[in-house]
This record gives sequence, structure tokens and C-alpha cells, in this order.
Amino acid sequence: VTSFKGRKVALCGLGGSGLATAQALVAGGAQVTAWDDNPDSVAKASAAGVPTADLRTVDWAAFAAFVLSPGVPLTHPKPHWTVDLAHAAGVEIIGDVELFVRERRAHAPDCPFIAITGTNGKSTTTALIAHILKESGRDTQLGGNIGTAVLTLDPPKAGRFYVVECSSYQIDLAPTLNPTAGILLNLTPDHLDRHGTMQHYADIKERLVAGSGTAIVGVDDSFSALIADRVERAGTRTVRISRRHVLASGLYAEGSRILKAEGGTSGLFVDLDGIQTLRGGHNAQNAAAAIAACLAVGVSAAEIHAGLKSFPGLKHRMQPVGRKGTVVFVNDSKATNADAAAPALSSYDRIYWIAGGLPKEGGITTLAPFFPKIAKAYLIGEAAPAFAATLGEAVPYEISGTLEQAVAHAAADAGRDETGGSAVMLSPACASFDQYKNFEVRGDAFVGHVRAIEGVTMLI
Ligand code: ADP
Repeated sequence: VTSFKGRKVALCGLGGSGLATAQALVAGGAQVTAWDDNPDSVAKASAAGVPTADLRTVDWAAFAAFVLSPGVPLTHPKPHWTVDLAHAAGVEIIGDVELFVRERRAHAPDCPFIAITGTNGKSTTTALIAHILKESGRDTQLGGNIGTAVLTLDPPKAGRFYVVECSSYQIDLAPTLNPTAGILLNLTPDHLDRHGTMQHYADIKERLVAGSGTAIVGVDDSFSALIADRVERAGTRTVRISRRHVLASGLYAEGSRILKAEGGTSGLFVDLDGIQTLRGGHNAQNAAAAIAACLAVGVSAAEIHAGLKSFPGLKHRMQPVGRKGTVVFVNDSKATNADAAAPALSSYDRIYWIAGGLPKEGGITTLAPFFPKIAKAYLIGEAAPAFAATLGEAVPYEISGTLEQAVAHAAADAGRDETGGSAVMLSPACASFDQYKNFEVRGDAFVGHVRAIEGVTMLI
């Protein structure tokens, strides 16, 4: 990034994206002074050629900007001490996404830029849009909160498409985000520990769509619905998305069918039936938003159809990984609490459910509406006794102990299931740390155990 060439910039937070940002600034000729409260991160940055210094001991008046990592508290529960120093010196506070958008404005202001936010479904929608664009042959860059720091992407140039997932922290640090198309999928209470009130959280998310060329807003929750009205009244082109209501204008889902409404008439745009990676009402919302964004940047309906059909899905999120006869094996390891497991349980009709791990508060009582669909539960990890107590008489279960046992037993039982079309699913509703390093390792272990099943056809 060249926007701070020859100028002094302070930076705090040298984790993954923070270090990449510092290096991009250094490479672009900025005079960087970087810091992190963790001495290991400071040492690593110094070794990587990033100048570091304790930001308590420097002259803040000299800085043209303060670049903050989204992981460092800006407002809540209280501002990090560097934020206080920046405020006191009147130094502008921005994040890596803001650096990216300034770079784009300076070098290729017309290159299409799609930004995605929401409480749930961000990564799926981001990956789906990028997949559709790539499959249609467009030069596509995918990054942001989904994992690749935006400043490590190929630089903006005419004809290049950017698809960037934004957390609320990143939006908060990007005052001139202004994407070509901006998506707000949904808003439910989350991360309030770091945002304070729901209203503050909603206000931050609103900024992303308010500044968009086209605002794409899921209107199924009351906060987002109000935002759509406000943004539209302010004169922004607004496309509404719903999975619950028929819309007079916008894109809405009826089961797996996505309809497009305009000027009072609506027609079928695409039927997602049969696309394994986009099962469930939550994915209908994600797909509808992705379609709206692709249409907003000039992708044809035929190109969108092709991309939807070949979407490989995201790892560990309701990912179909194998098949044996009519049994499908689904890796939903990312579901680390009951709320996160609900979409997967609602998306299949007959489930051999592998659950458990390190329990979270509340357990699985909220999943009771899905219990009738569970043919049998296979309980693993520390949560097994508590989950067993909740399942009680309502659902047959066994305490499998390990994931390996659970997969073997579930596969055998599902294989004997005469009703056909069942799913063996790891959707643990628990953290993984009692048995695994993280949910990714747990999901990979599940895939390994599925692969070991005789006669299974892998889908990945
Ligand atoms: P995020 O990036 O916002 O965390 P992901 O796309 O990674 O979201 O999806 C994570 C989980 O959230 C999914 O496995 C699913 O359980 C749930 N989910 C996905 N999309 C939605 C949605 N539109 N509404 C509600 N829940 C969703």
C-alpha cells in the first residue's frame, strides 16, 4: 500500500493480519512503528523487517495514521491504551480494510468490490460469490475476515473483482468502505461483549450497506429490516433478501426455490434443490444475497446458475464429505454451540447425530424441536453425560466416547436404515478442546474416519 509512502504510521496488533498489514505498509514506503502487547509477536515482526517500538514511548504527534488490528479493542469493553493515546494526539484510527479501499480508490476506483457482513453466513456467502465470479472466468480476489488479509491480495487494477468478508470490527475501522455492492445478511445478538449494545452493533453493520453502490439487505430480522428502509430512503439502490416472506421487490426463498421480484411481479430465478452444499433455509438466504451481489456487478443469470451448481461448500460447515449408498456423511465441526448446530439439524430429515466435546453453557435443550429427526445420537467427549440427560427418553443414544467409535457405529446403523436418505453428521454443539486442538482438526479427524469406512465414496 502506497497511500502512506514517506509518512509515519503507528500500528498495533501483530497477529496474522496485523503482521501482513505492517509488512505491506513497509513495502509501500511508510515509516512504520509497530507494537503488540505480546512480546513474541513483537519479536516475530522485528525479525520480519517491521520496525517496532513501545508505543508508550514515542511521539504520537508525528503519526499520519494509527492502524489498529481488528482483534484489539477499539471501544469495548474499554479502548486499548494505544487507542487512548491516538485519540489524545488526534491521530486517525483505521484498519487494513480501510488501507485497501484507499488503495483501490487511488489506483482502480472502478474495479468491482463486494463487501459482506452479518452475524451468520458471512464466510459461506463470501466464498459462494467468489466461486461464481471465478467460475465465470473473472479475475477474482477473496479475502478479509474469511482468512486472507486484504493487503496480501493482488493489487487493485481495472477488471479485477474483490470479494471481502468484513467483521463488525473491520467495518468500525473502515470509515470510507463504500463497496460497489454491500451485503448485510442478518443481525442477531453476538459479540456484544465487544460492542456493548445491540444498537451499537447494528449501527456499525449499517455503515457497510449505507455507503454501498447497491445495498443488499436480509430483512428477516427487525434490525436489518429497519436498516433496509433507512438506507433506501437515503437514496441508495436497495435489494431486499428474505427466506421467510414474499417480497414485492428483491430476492426471496420459498423452500429451495429462489424467486426474483421486480415491479410487483416475481419469477423463479433458480431452484437450489439437489445442490448439496446449499441445503437449508439459511443457505437459501446466503445464496439469494450472493445472487443479488453478482447481478449488481454484471454477472449473467446463466453464469450465476453454473457457479451455484458447482459450489464446493466450505470446510467444516455442513460439508458433505462422503457417501455410501443412500447415506451421506456431513462434517459440521464448526458448529461449536447449540445455535450453530441448529441449521444443520434443520437441513436433513433423518440424522445419525454425532455430538459432544467441551460443553457450552445451556447445553442442547434449545435443539429439542429437532429431536424427532434424530434416528440416534452418538455422544463424545466431556459433554456426553449432560447431553444424554437432555436426550433422555426422547432420542435413542449411545455414549461412544471417541469420534472414531461414533463414526463407525453411526455408519453401521445408518447402513442398516431401511428408510433411505439418512445423514451421518458431526455437528457437535460443543467446543473441541477436550479432545482436539480446534474445530478444524476435529473436522479433519471426522473426514479421516469416514474415509476409512469400507465402500464409501468420498465427495471431497
Ligand atoms: P460466519 O462467517 O458468519 O461465521 P459461516 O458462513 O462460516 O458464517 O457459517 C457458520 C455457521 O453459521 C454455519 O455452519 C451455519 O450453521 C450457520 N449459518 C450459515 N449461514 C447462516 C444464515 N444465513 N443464517 C443463520 N445461520 C447461518
